[in-house]
Amino acid sequence: MTDMLFELPTTPSIPVKGEKAEYPVGRIFCVGRNYAAHAAEMGVEVDREAPFYFTKTPTAAILSGATIAYPPGTENYHYEMELALVIGKDGFRVSKDEAKALIYGYCCALDMTRRDLQLVARSKQRPWDLGKDVEQSAVFSTITKATEFEVTQQRIHLEVNGEVKQNSNLSFLIHDVCAVVADLSKFYHLRAGDVILTGTPEGVGPVVAGDKITGGIDGLDPIALTIGAAE
Ligand code: MN
Repeated sequence: MTDMLFELPTTPSIPVKGEKAEYPVGRIFCVGRNYAAHAAEMGVEVDREAPFYFTKTPTAAILSGATIAYPPGTENYHYEMELALVIGKDGFRVSKDEAKALIYGYCCALDMTRRDLQLVARSKQRPWDLGKDVEQSAVFSTITKATEFEVTQQRIHLEVNGEVKQNSNLSFLIHDVCAVVADLSKFYHLRAGDVILTGTPEGVGPVVAGDKITGGIDGLDPIALTIGAAE
C-alpha cells in the first residue's frame, strides 16, 4: 500500500434490502426538470428532447434517518423528493432497451438544495455547484433491487412535520429511468457505484431548524431527515 499524507473521508455506502453487503457510492448524477409541474413552479420550460444533469460530490451522500446541521450560506434550504436508481453494470452508449439491464436497484432520495444560491447562479448563467453540491445534501433510503421493483405509476410524496408538501406520481416523469440511463451513457462510461437522482415533482419548499422531513415512494423503503440548528 502506498503511504498517504492524510486520510480522505470514507465513501458512503447505501444498505440493500436482503443483502449483507452495502452499495458503495461512486458518483452522484442528478436530473433537472424532469416533471412538468415542477419546471412550471420554477418558472422554466422542460426540455422534452433530452434531460440535463448536475452532479454532487459522492461524499455529500448520507443515509435516511440522519440529522444534519442547517447548511451555511443559505437562507432558503429546500427539500426535493426524488426516485434514485443505482447502476450495477458497466454501460457506454447503451440504447433505451439495453439500459434496464444496467439498473441494480432503486431507492428514495432527497436532493437538498440551497435554492437562493441556485437561483442566483441560474440568473447569472453560472454553475449550480453552490446551490446543489451541498455537504450532506444527497440523502438515500435503503435500496430495493430492480428484480423487486418496477417503475410504473407509484405515488411519490414528501411531508414536513407530517404536513404533505409533495404528492405526485412516477408516471409523470418526462424522461423515464431507461431514457435517462441511455442518455447519460452518451457522456459517461456508466459503472457500478453510479447513482442517478431522477428529478423532483412540484411542491418544493424551504425547511428550518427543527423540521422533520419524511417521504416515500410506494414499494420502496421510506426516507427521513431532520434539520438541526445552523453551525
Ligand atoms: Mn433535484
